[in-house]
Amino acid sequence: MLKDSYKYKGLREILVAKLHQSGIRDKNILEAMLAVPRHFFLESAFAEQAYEDIALPIAEGQTISQPYTVAYQTQLLELQPGDKVLEIGTGSGYQAAILCQMGMDVYSIERNPKLHMQAQKLLNELGYHPHLLLGDGTLGWPEFAPYHGIVVTAASPGIPKPLKEQLAVGGRLVIPVGDLESQQMLRLTRISESETKIEEFKYFKFVPLIGKEGWHEK
Ligand code: SAM
Repeated sequence: MLKDSYKYKGLREILVAKLHQSGIRDKNILEAMLAVPRHFFLESAFAEQAYEDIALPIAEGQTISQPYTVAYQTQLLELQPGDKVLEIGTGSGYQAAILCQMGMDVYSIERNPKLHMQAQKLLNELGYHPHLLLGDGTLGWPEFAPYHGIVVTAASPGIPKPLKEQLAVGGRLVIPVGDLESQQMLRLTRISESETKIEEFKYFKFVPLIGKEGWHEK
C-alpha cells in the first residue's frame, strides 16, 4: 500500500510556492501538484529528490519531466475541467495523474510496454483512471478525437500531422520541437477547420519522440 507523509506534503508545498514564483498562476494546476505525490512515480532511491524541481530517471532510460515543465506545458493548454486531453508519452504516469486530478478526461499513449504497464498499475492504485494506450503516439488516437488539448512530452523534429488533425476547433497542441539537443515549446491553436496559429515559447531539453511522425529508431 502506498503511503504519503507530512514530510512529503511539506516538500510539495515548498515546490508549489516556487512554481508560483516562476510564473505558474493556474490555480487548478498548482492545487493538483500539491495533491499528487510525485515520489510514488519514482524508484525509492530517488524519493528524497522527488520535490526538487528537476527531471529524474525512470525505467527504460526515460525520464519523469521536471515539475516546472509539467506545469508550464499544462498551463499553455489553457484547459477547463472536463476537457478531453491527449498526452503523448505517458512515461511514469505523473503528468496523466496531474491532468486527472485537474478534472480532465485524459487519454495517454506510451510506446514502451514496460512503462505503459507500470503507469497503468500505479495510476489505478492511486485511483486515477485515464485511458491508456500502448502504441506510437505520433499517430494520435483517432477513435476518441477531437481533443481540446494535446500535450507531447518528448522532443519532436516537427509537428506531427495526425495530432494537428485530431485537435478540436479552439483546441491547443503543446509540443517541444527542435533537434535532439534543444527544443522550443510551440503552441498550435486550431482557429477553424482550415486555419491554425503557432506561438513560440521557451527552450527545453526532452528525450526523443520516436515514431512514424517523429524521430526514427536506428
Ligand atoms: N509525461 C511523462 C511523465 O509524466 O513521466 C514523461 C515522459 S518522458 C519525458 C517521454 C516519454 O515519451 C517516454 O516514456 C518515451 O518512452 C515516450 N515516447 C517517445 N516516443 C513516443 C511515441 N512515439 N509515442 C508514445 N510515447 C513515446
